[in-house]
Amino acid sequence: MALVVGAALFAALSACNQNSADTDTLSLYDLVVKFDEEAQTLTCRQEVLYINREDADLTELMFSLAPAAFREGAQFPPFTPQERSAAYYAGASFGGIEIEAVGVEGFDAEFEIGGDDQNILIVPVSALAPNATLNVKIDFCVKLPKCNGRMGITPSAVNLGNFYPILCVYENGAYQTNPYYNFGDPFYSDAADYLVTLDIPEKYIAASSGTVENSYVENGRRIIEINAAKCRDFAAVLSKNFKTVSDRVNGVDINYYYVSDTNPQTVLSTAKSAIEVFSDAFGSYPYPVFNVAQTGLNSSGMEYSNLVFISSALFGAAKEETVIHETAHQWWYGVVGCNQIANAWLDEGLAEFSTAYYFRLTGDSARYSKIIGETLSGYVTFYDFIKASNPSAPSGMNRALNEFSSQGEYVVMSYYKGALMFDTLLEMYGEKKLNRALSAYFDQNSFAIANPDLLVQNINRYCKGSENLVKSWIDGTVIIG
Ligand SMILES: [Zn+2]
Repeated sequence: MALVVGAALFAALSACNQNSADTDTLSLYDLVVKFDEEAQTLTCRQEVLYINREDADLTELMFSLAPAAFREGAQFPPFTPQERSAAYYAGASFGGIEIEAVGVEGFDAEFEIGGDDQNILIVPVSALAPNATLNVKIDFCVKLPKCNGRMGITPSAVNLGNFYPILCVYENGAYQTNPYYNFGDPFYSDAADYLVTLDIPEKYIAASSGTVENSYVENGRRIIEINAAKCRDFAAVLSKNFKTVSDRVNGVDINYYYVSDTNPQTVLSTAKSAIEVFSDAFGSYPYPVFNVAQTGLNSSGMEYSNLVFISSALFGAAKEETVIHETAHQWWYGVVGCNQIANAWLDEGLAEFSTAYYFRLTGDSARYSKIIGETLSGYVTFYDFIKASNPSAPSGMNRALNEFSSQGEYVVMSYYKGALMFDTLLEMYGEKKLNRALSAYFDQNSFAIANPDLLVQNINRYCKGSENLVKSWIDGTVIIG
C-alpha cells in the first residue's frame, strides 16, 4: 500500500536459502464471480484444488475471510476512526461475507466460522498427507459496502480486493490467522494459480489480475474468463466509465484504466518505465500483463498481483510516485511474498526504497536525493516526537502491525526506515552490489515467501560485512540522523 507521506502524514497523526516455490504444485483457485449491481452483491462459487505442500498431515484447512471486516459490528473494522468519514463517502455502509455451503471432494462438508473476528473459515478434512490434493468447493455471497476501501463500491468504480476466501499460510505447525487490522496490509497468502470467470453487467469494464482468455456478451451480461497464474492473490476493479490506454514493454502488456485523467499517457508511461527499470535491476517481471486502475481509495494506492489500484484523488508527483511504489510491489509482495502482518517493512521498505531508486536508475539522482532527504527528515522528526513522550519507545522495524502504537509509527518504521536502510547500503556498497543482492533475493524467493533472515543473508553475501549493520537497522539499535 502507499500512504500519503510528508506533511500529510503529520497532519494525519494529530488525529531455507533456495526458497523458490515449485510452481508446478501451486494450489488452483477456480472462481466464478457474479456481480449484481442493484443488490450490490457478489454471488460466488470457488473451487480450490489444494495441494498439501507442508511436511505435516493436515486435519483442517483454513481460509481468511477479509470481507468479514466490513460487516456491522466487526471487532476489527477496515478503517481507522480518522479515515472513516472519508472512506464512507455516502454515510455508514456495511458489507460482509456469507459462506453458504462447503463441499470436500464432491460431498457436502461441515465448516466453522472462527478466528478473532469471525474472519476464518475452518474446514475439517480427513488427514491430508504431504503432497496429497483435495478439492474444496465454497459457495459464498459477498455484500459490497459503499466505501473507498479495497473492497467496496466507490463513486467511480467497484473495488474487488480481498473479496474471496483465501487459504491461510501454514507455517511452524499452525495456520497464520489474523484479523483485518485497520492499517498496514493485513494479508498473507501463498502464491497460487487462478482461473476466474467474471459475470458482470454488459455496461461494465473490468481491470483485473491475469490475462483475459475469453470475453463475450450474453443476455446483457459480460462474461470474462481470466487466467492468472502464479499470483499472490486475485483482484479486480469494475467501472461503467473506464477508458483505457495501453502499451507494451519486454513482452508485457501495460494497461491503464482510468475514469478521469487529463493526461493518461503520463501514468501509462510511468508504469511502463517502472516495469522496465525494475526488471533490469531486480529480475524480469514474470507475467504477461500489468494493469493500473484509477479508483476511489482511502489510501494512495494498493497492490495486487498484476493489478494496482491508484487513488483518483492523486495528482502530480504523488501520483507518479504512487504508480512507481505500487509497481515495485509486483516484485516485493507479489513475486516475493512475505508475512505482511509480522514483517511489513520487508515489502514496504523495499517498495518505498525502489520508488526513490527508480529515479536514480533513470538518471534523476537529484529526485532520488530529494525523496531520501525528505524521508530522513520525516523519520527524525517523527522519532523525536515519539521519544519526547516515551523515551523508551521501541525503534525496531520488525514488529507486527498490532505492535505499532499508531498508523504514523507504522509508516515511519516500515516505509521510511526501511527505505533509509537500503539507501545506506547503496551509499556504502554501490548500485552493482545492491542490485546483485536484491536480484538474488528476488530469484531465490520467487513465488515463495521470504523473511528478514533471507534478505539479510543475500545482502551480506554481496555487500560483505553488512550483516551486523543491517541487523542493527532492523532491531532498532542503529542511530539515525
Ligand atoms: Zn506499499
